[in-house]
Amino acid sequence: MLKLYNTLTRKKDVFRPLKGKTAGMYSCGPTVHNYAHIGNLRTSIFNDLLRRSLEYLGFKVKQVMNITDVDDKTIKGSQKENLPLKEFTRMYEDIFLNDLKELNIEKPDFMLRATESIPEMIDLIEKLLNKGYAYKASDGIYFSISKFKDYGKLARIKKTEDTKSRINNDEYDKSQQKDFALWKFHTPEDGSVSWNASFGPGRPGWHIECSAMSMKILGPQIDIHTGGVDLIFPHHTNEIAQSEAVTGKKFVDYWLHAGFLTMKKSKMSKSLGNILTLRDLKEKGFSPQDYRYLCLLTHYRSSLIFSLENLEAAKTAHERIKRKIIEIKKTKLKGKDFTERYRAEFKKAIEDDINIPKAVQVFLEALENHKFDSSKKIRLLEKFDLVLGLKVKEMHEEKISIPGEISQLIKDREAARKDKNFSAADKIRDKIKLFGYSLEDSPEGVKAKKI
Ligand SMILES: [Zn+2]
Repeated sequence: MLKLYNTLTRKKDVFRPLKGKTAGMYSCGPTVHNYAHIGNLRTSIFNDLLRRSLEYLGFKVKQVMNITDVDDKTIKGSQKENLPLKEFTRMYEDIFLNDLKELNIEKPDFMLRATESIPEMIDLIEKLLNKGYAYKASDGIYFSISKFKDYGKLARIKKTEDTKSRINNDEYDKSQQKDFALWKFHTPEDGSVSWNASFGPGRPGWHIECSAMSMKILGPQIDIHTGGVDLIFPHHTNEIAQSEAVTGKKFVDYWLHAGFLTMKKSKMSKSLGNILTLRDLKEKGFSPQDYRYLCLLTHYRSSLIFSLENLEAAKTAHERIKRKIIEIKKTKLKGKDFTERYRAEFKKAIEDDINIPKAVQVFLEALENHKFDSSKKIRLLEKFDLVLGLKVKEMHEEKISIPGEISQLIKDREAARKDKNFSAADKIRDKIKLFGYSLEDSPEGVKAKKI
């Protein structure tokens, strides 16, 4: 029986989807205005672990993720870079998708760009206006939080008494709970970013984007909605208000929130200047999979305290796993079968609110069990890897495959040496080094080695 910690009830609830074994899942995706930092990517890894766990337990998952490619931040960013909004956001969208791939994160079944769902947003806003939940102000259309009975139930806040004040920004904190913008009328600062609507030209507020995109694919009610813990207020609080005001139905049954990534006791944030991206980690000599492994070791709801020392330890442990698996694949030791015991323990771990650190522990116990028949062991570890995503199947002794351009450079260097042009040969050797390969002259000829 799968139990998930539900932010709505503040306890672990038994997971029962609306439609049999199909789980509809919506994950708040990135705002593509910059490189994703490793805190954002931790949330993406959590989404992936949740999705993989659901599938492991036999659910069919229908996952939707949005790409926010129009909001306050993307417009500001594109203007600063002097690029059209579309060009600017597509650049960061590509980088984000590449990060996901490198972290072995499975692609959601549907990825929707906000700019491609504007009619659905306009439709929701029209419905909110007609039902009296929204009103027109001088600078946009606002949601009236005093009209919505359960406003703030997810964040467990008391509704503010001041119904006259409004907030136009997409992001604000609990002390500023006010009527929020569903639609922002066009201003000169928005440049050419504007869509026509019956209530006036402009652009959507951030919150309505997610309500519209989740309903577009998953309908009025969904099983699971995920996001970082910082989205509980105002984003998810506002999503509930807008959606439930339109449909009159419970929007989401299970709200799951991933914890922060903190650095030396402070949250990683732009204002503190301690942002790290996947690119930064790679430049420091870590692989994306080292970072994934680090994330597996902390439960998704806990804060992950990040340091390069922790990442270094995760890298060492990850490499040790790799070496062990390669060794086991080679030894083919006949032994006992512990499959059922470990399988039961692994299932128990993930059924307990996706307890991945515990699942990793079971994985490691099976790995280290010297009496375990090696081919059965590998088969089981590959099964576990459907959830963990460590790429166990691909763990083989590294055969160096030399890229074509390096092979050509090696040939050029040989030719230079034959001509006794040693300075040219040395220059080519340096160039090869820049690609990350060193050369060894051996009796059988020149061999390239990854540095
Ligand atoms: Zn969202």
